[in-house]
Amino acid sequence: MTVGRMESAALFDAGKKGRGLRATKELNGGDVVFSESSFSAVVFDSLAMQVCHSCFRRQVNLHRCAQCKFAHYCDRTCQTACWNEHKQECGAIKRVGKAPSENIRLAARVLWRMHKDTGIVSDSQLVSVDQLEDHVADLSQEDLKKLQTDVDNFLEYWSCGRKQHSVDYISHIFGIIKCNGFTLSDQRGLQAVGVGLFPNLCLVNHDCWPNCTVILNHGNQSALNSALHSQRRIELRALRKIAEGEELTVSYVDYLNLSADRQKKLKEHFHFECTCEHCSKHINDDLMAAASDSEGVKPSADKVKEVTSFSKECLEKIERSRIEGDYHEVLKLCHECLEKQENVLADTHLCKLQVLSVASEVLSYMKVFSEAADYARRMVEGYMKLYHPNNAQLGMAIMRAGVTHWHAGQIEVGHGLICKAYGILMVTHGPNHAITRDLETMRTQTEMELKMFKQNESVYHTMRDAALKK
Ligand SMILES: [Zn+2]
Ligand SMILES: [Zn+2]
Ligand SMILES: [Zn+2]
Repeated sequence: MTVGRMESAALFDAGKKGRGLRATKELNGGDVVFSESSFSAVVFDSLAMQVCHSCFRRQVNLHRCAQCKFAHYCDRTCQTACWNEHKQECGAIKRVGKAPSENIRLAARVLWRMHKDTGIVSDSQLVSVDQLEDHVADLSQEDLKKLQTDVDNFLEYWSCGRKQHSVDYISHIFGIIKCNGFTLSDQRGLQAVGVGLFPNLCLVNHDCWPNCTVILNHGNQSALNSALHSQRRIELRALRKIAEGEELTVSYVDYLNLSADRQKKLKEHFHFECTCEHCSKHINDDLMAAASDSEGVKPSADKVKEVTSFSKECLEKIERSRIEGDYHEVLKLCHECLEKQENVLADTHLCKLQVLSVASEVLSYMKVFSEAADYARRMVEGYMKLYHPNNAQLGMAIMRAGVTHWHAGQIEVGHGLICKAYGILMVTHGPNHAITRDLETMRTQTEMELKMFKQNESVYHTMRDAALKK
């Protein structure tokens, strides 16, 4: 069934896990194992007017498709680049009168592309899109109901399509999207803006402590001639040295969950039991639920249990207040919670890390930088004890902590964190990614400020104040 070839990876039978990919040569940390353009992708319904449907950047003043009035683009260049993908969709939306939900739009884009180009669109694509796993047989009653609704809505949207498909085949496509769809983020990696299908990436199995990471690179859309545009594509990047023949893995869930919780999420969403080393040996579970041990004084097990359940309830309240935009309430709850946790939960306890994360984010937003920096530093210290040293989330968290320290005027710590983040992102994102380039600029800036600071503190503060007023 293998149809294409890749330079550094090949399909193999990964036993109980089914198909998998393994390295066909030795790889080093930071190497791009492969890059792949999306077979199809769509912008989320909620952001359809704020994100370009071609390059997936968030922009103000997007230009609207005059035909369907639904698709939005940066400019004519992006619109032209996307016309092949949008043409049939444009007609269908006009006919139905409004755009259906993102799932249905994606399924239709997949089918239109398959009719036009078949399910294989490049020499390096290893399997056809319709040969991917769908897990329809494993869906719960509730999920099956949702699937049925999607299929009904799809049929209405597709009603004028030239080719007709059986309900089973459409369900198969929806199943593929559900368990293989990859969330696409904006150009700064800050917000999820859409979902796409990358057929080779779908073949990479999960491990909670993976040897690869996947990153979306928006590529270059600034060239005037759209023929020179690089497409939306992902890169699979090696996090460490990988031996020839070793299986390539990525993580489908955030590592910062107890092994049992990660297993539960994977079972619910991806329909398999994770038996990775970290899950089977419960590695780091003890740290993620640890009691504080300040000066050798340990709280009782009952106390830890009490504060953990208090924290969980409090985190739910924090989330609700955050959604309501009541940031003063969020902070009040965070302070209350951190006070209870003091001398009871360790700095690597997940509940403490969650509160620190929210508190530093909200304080930064409110421009209370020095307190935000303090929380961000404690959070990052905890993260560093838990995450793989080249984890992308860790790199992003250290970057944010560095920026917060910089804003707080703690230039030395800020510069140190920014350098550290840069080192991680060079591996996880690569030197050409927009975020790495931003970080490079910041690093140069903080380096210069640090030099100035060391030469003459008072001149530094005057210049800094002037710069911030701009
Ligand atoms: Zn664009
Ligand atoms: Zn249109
Ligand atoms: Zn696992």
